[in-house]
Amino acid sequence: MNSLKTAIRKIPKSIIGVRDFCKCAPLASTSGPLTQFTDDEIMMKDSVSKLAKEEILPLVKKMEKEGKIDDGVLKSLFDNGLMGIEIPEDYGGTGSNFMTTILAVEEVAKVDGSVAALVDIHNTLVNSLIIKVGSKEQKEKYLPKLAQTYPGSFCLTEPGSGSDAFSLKTEAKKDGAEYVLNGTKMWISNSDIAGLFLVFANANPSAGYRGITTFFVERGTPGLTIAKPEDKLGIKASGTCMVHFDNVRIPETNILGEFGHGYKYAAGFLNEGRVGIGAQMIGIAQGCLDATIPYTLERKQFGTDIFSFQSVQHQIAQITTELECARLMVYNAARLVEAKKDFVKEAAMAKLVASETALRVTAKCIDLMGGVGFTTDFPQEKFFRDSKIGTIYEGTSNMQLSTIAKCIRKEYSH
Ligand SMILES: Cc1cc2nc3c(=O)[nH]c(=O)nc-3n(C[C@H](O)[C@H](O)[C@H](O)COP(=O)(O)OP(=O)(O)OC[C@H]3O[C@@H](n4cnc5c(N)ncnc54)[C@H](O)[C@@H]3O)c2cc1C
Repeated sequence: MNSLKTAIRKIPKSIIGVRDFCKCAPLASTSGPLTQFTDDEIMMKDSVSKLAKEEILPLVKKMEKEGKIDDGVLKSLFDNGLMGIEIPEDYGGTGSNFMTTILAVEEVAKVDGSVAALVDIHNTLVNSLIIKVGSKEQKEKYLPKLAQTYPGSFCLTEPGSGSDAFSLKTEAKKDGAEYVLNGTKMWISNSDIAGLFLVFANANPSAGYRGITTFFVERGTPGLTIAKPEDKLGIKASGTCMVHFDNVRIPETNILGEFGHGYKYAAGFLNEGRVGIGAQMIGIAQGCLDATIPYTLERKQFGTDIFSFQSVQHQIAQITTELECARLMVYNAARLVEAKKDFVKEAAMAKLVASETALRVTAKCIDLMGGVGFTTDFPQEKFFRDSKIGTIYEGTSNMQLSTIAKCIRKEYSH
């Protein structure tokens, strides 16, 4: 720790980036309570919280209005190592662990759900997949750019295949040493600003879902077009677009991992991604609570602050307790991922509970604010709108329940 402190003192920045302290001391796992973190994790949490409040918060309204992530915010995420949290240092990343990603997503989400979506999807789906299944050449080519230059997109969903993701129709036809991609992806996060697209396409439709293969497609490749972002209920600054592939030619070296293993990668990495969505949801709910409780202590009705009414206290105690339950489930799923234990059921449960809880907490916060909570002058209505996506993307609540049920059946079938 001494060397860590010395190194941090040397950093001439007001904000100590995740990248900096992780270079000094690798994170250790903890076997104590789930809310007990290592010193390094506490420092990371604090530094991301500072970054979120100082560099993201002032631009939240502007980003919401413009429907895009501010360029300065994006640069700051790269400069402070938040776009390469688990990317090894040799490839220009922070070289940290999964729990660090989860804590970072939570801290950013306390301030803005859209930036949290960007950090989460980029780290838990795109980077993670390349780190774990990419070849040495692919890692050398793409990881430094993903850590320092451009965001990536994860392109699975199509207009005709959402929950039933593996019925996708985008095709990849072999032509000599190239593949030719044709099809349309829908709802692709970060695609307005992404430099790299991980595309799930069927390269052998006769084999059904076993033909699904993952391809790298770089922005600017002829035939790749990105439509204008959808106008959404929430996470408005997160660019969600349709992505079209019209005879997009890519070399066969652009296959990520093994031919025909795309369905395994999508299913496997979405399990980890769901813990990230859980973190986004608990961050949104906590950010909303943090903005609400001080108001209840100040607002006076019937000659006293409204926090003094027992029914208000009980409502605050109830939602704070529900949020703590969700947080423990998210942290537990994250620790299971790190410990390389089974976590599929726990990840689905964490996402289900965190997203449903975030909706309840943010709605209750609006109630506690009264009329002003219903206006755009206060942040509660945005937190409420941003929380809604949690029950939809990376598997709807129904699909989480199906996964949980499948795991339960397995546990009880011998
Ligand atoms: C803002 C946003 C960002 C997104 N980002 C990405 C991204 O980056 N990459 C990507 O690939 N995708 C992304 N998605 C897509 C997202 O994962 C899908 O929208 C989601 O999986 C649901 O698919 P769907 O919209 O086609 O709904 P559908 O599958 O049509 O579902 C509609 C309803 O039917 C229910 N339903 C469907 N099948 C079953 C079943 N078997 N049992 C019970 N109920 C069922 C669902 O629960 C839901 O309530 C994003 C979506 C949004 C809205």
